[in-house]
Amino acid sequence: MGRGIIKRLLGSLRETAEKLPDIRKCSNALKYSIRDAIICAFAVFYFQYPSLLNFQQDMERKRKRSNMEALFGVENIPCSDQMTNIVDGIESGQLGAVFDQVHQIAAEQGIIDQYRVLDGGVLIPLDGTWTFACEKIHCKHCLSITSKKGKTVYYHSMLGAAIVKPGSHTVLPLEPEFIRNEDGSEKQDCERNAAKRWLERKGAGLEGLKPTFLGDDLYACHSICEKIVGMGMSFIFTCKEESHPWIAEQVKYAEMEGHKRREWNGRNHIEYRYEWVKGIENRAEGEKIAVNYLSLQIWNEEKQEKTYSNSWITDKAISVENVSLLAECARTRWKIENEYNNVLKCRGYNLEHNFGHGQEHAADIYCLLNVLCLLFHSLQELADEAYRVARGSFGRRDAFFWGLRYEICRYLHEDWNLFFLTVAGLDPDG
Ligand SMILES: [Zn+2]
Repeated sequence: MGRGIIKRLLGSLRETAEKLPDIRKCSNALKYSIRDAIICAFAVFYFQYPSLLNFQQDMERKRKRSNMEALFGVENIPCSDQMTNIVDGIESGQLGAVFDQVHQIAAEQGIIDQYRVLDGGVLIPLDGTWTFACEKIHCKHCLSITSKKGKTVYYHSMLGAAIVKPGSHTVLPLEPEFIRNEDGSEKQDCERNAAKRWLERKGAGLEGLKPTFLGDDLYACHSICEKIVGMGMSFIFTCKEESHPWIAEQVKYAEMEGHKRREWNGRNHIEYRYEWVKGIENRAEGEKIAVNYLSLQIWNEEKQEKTYSNSWITDKAISVENVSLLAECARTRWKIENEYNNVLKCRGYNLEHNFGHGQEHAADIYCLLNVLCLLFHSLQELADEAYRVARGSFGRRDAFFWGLRYEICRYLHEDWNLFFLTVAGLDPDG
């Protein structure tokens, strides 16, 4: 395991890109293939460097060869405007298959099995987040919000999904679903609709993962719970009293089961207090589904202080034996905010930067490729020895990206493995 996983991952991207239909009209830009445009855009995100293509064009002029050719197999490097024009014509869903292929490679490498933590299945938190916002630049798929003062902000948003596990910072992103206005739609699209679309589109392919979906209070509605259970899958969703008064009312009068667990954290005794009840009705518009309700309070005994409190609904049966694991899994929901949204936006991936908006799909395609880069980097961190050594020689992720950029812009590299060892400061021949 380990050597050369990047080549297989890139092969999936190339294969998916080559299958995309080319509907462009005859023009000079046809000298750049859709495949080259997509791989070049991906490379910009892989190195988090918008000027990458200029450096590689320079290298090609001087040395008759560039890293885009040697490492990425690109024949012609477009400039960034040409690239945006080309990817603008590609619908994000057409490119999404690459995520499935990459997850297949991860499964073959045994990585997915490492993430099976609950009843032989994986945890998949879902969460919506803005990916772009601006008062001036916009396209016909932009969502918008107008303030009381009449100021309109245009934005793009996506439903993110990733495989996570307790105790691991490394998340494995799945294909996101874009929350966007379509031609002729009267109402703006929203996160719940995107979640339902995503489940319909991706659900069948996720069966082998035996997923349990995690989500915030927004997901604890009847329609999403029913959809997931109807697909033979599971959920644990945050359920707050104030937004689900009907559930809260039933819980108030129910006879709760309970369990307590104590642990010593090195300084204090911590007590975990679990309470649950089964068969609570979650209903909407005359429809209802039975769910189980679970709450957790964490107390610091010495300080007599409550340090955590939360409640969830789930279709999973709850017992003394599994309640601690269920609550631990439920609490990993925050990883979609911290290890996904926050990493994509603030810790290396510049998700909200405008790399080019286009008129149709460019903004979403760029976003999709950026998320794909996070997936590639996660898998390389887990299964690519040379990458891991390179990554380990830098502390922060942005410092690591600086290291990658320095090497890719200044020197021609013929081999990924040697490239990463050079980034790590090791003599590949030594
Ligand atoms: Zn837009």
